[in-house]
Formats: sequence, structure tokens, C-alpha cells
Amino acid sequence: MIWGVSELDMKNKAVFLDRDGTLNKDSIDYIKHLSEYEIFDFTPEALRILQKMGFKLVVITNQSVIARGMSSTKEVESIHNFLTNELKKHGVTLDGIYYCPHHPDDNCPCRKPETGNIEKAIKDHNIDPIRSYFIGDSKRDIEAGKKVGCKTILVLTGERIKSPDETTNWNIKPDHVTKDLLEAAKLIQKIESSK
Ligand SMILES: [Mg+2]
Ligand SMILES: [Zn+2]
Repeated sequence: MIWGVSELDMKNKAVFLDRDGTLNKDSIDYIKHLSEYEIFDFTPEALRILQKMGFKLVVITNQSVIARGMSSTKEVESIHNFLTNELKKHGVTLDGIYYCPHHPDDNCPCRKPETGNIEKAIKDHNIDPIRSYFIGDSKRDIEAGKKVGCKTILVLTGERIKSPDETTNWNIKPDHVTKDLLEAAKLIQKIESSK
């Protein structure tokens, strides 16, 4: 046995998931309270498909609502507990939720399109980014995913981007665009089964 190869084999593959506009309805006024938080109907099924294929499921989210003083760490974490528990009811286990609480002006290393939180998750869960995907509804998600070497999928369920045409002048383009997370999961299933 060649050690280098076996070490490589032991690495996990993951799907990194944006939160707002990808797993749940986004709001142009930000999601500040649990009462405003609404998971898309298709999210549990989509995540179940990905989990069954052996992907770790890791949420990477910008929550500047905290730095903006519109919400709190406690409220954001209560939303994450709710999300975790709702998914658990449907047989889905999230492997991690990493959020950036900072303001865009803070220039922190963890706010997407920066990759601090993804890199932390890669270390924590021994993930091979090359075999992994990033799914999100914004340019920032696609940029962050690309930077670490993931395949990227843009979903059109966010508040801002409603059509693939809107990516025309992006310097970094998604590998795929799908209607929503469920279609993205099915696409990944198709890609992986043809390998
Ligand atoms: Mg989003
Ligand atoms: Zn940050």
C-alpha cells in the first residue's frame, strides 16, 4: 500500500452550503430573528441526497447582522439550533455551521468571498476541497468556493440573482447554475455517478 494514496483516500468530500437564499428564504432586510426564518420545503430532501452520497454537509454563512447590531450571537445561534433540529427530524445531520459575525468594513478573513471559515472547516473535518462543492445564491459564494478549489453551483432562490444571465459579466463564474438546492443535489448525483 502506498501511504500517500491511502491518506488521500481518507479525506472527506463535502458540500459547503450558503445559508440565506440557499437553504432558506432570504430577506433584503436581513434575517434577524428566528420568527423570520423559513427553511425551503425542498431543503431536507436535497441534503438527504447529498448525505447519502457520503458528503459532509457544512454551512458557511455571512451574518453581518451581528456586527450591524440588528441581531445577536445568541439569536443567530438559536436559528442554527432550529435549522439543525429541523433537519435532524428529516434524517439529515449537519456536520458544521460556520458563521462570520463581522461587518464588511471589518475586512476580516472569514467573510465570504474570503475563505477563513471554509479553510477552518476543511481542517476540522479533514476535507478534500477538490472533491467538494460549494452551493450558494451569490457571487461571493462562487468566489469563495472557487478560491479553495471546489466545484461551484449557483442557485436562483436568492433575493438578488434570478437568472443565469446575471452572471454574464462575473469574472469568476459558477461551474453550474440550477433552479434550487434540490436540482443542485440531483446534478451532483448525476456528476458523481458518471465518474
Ligand atoms: Mg445567500
Ligand atoms: Zn468575519
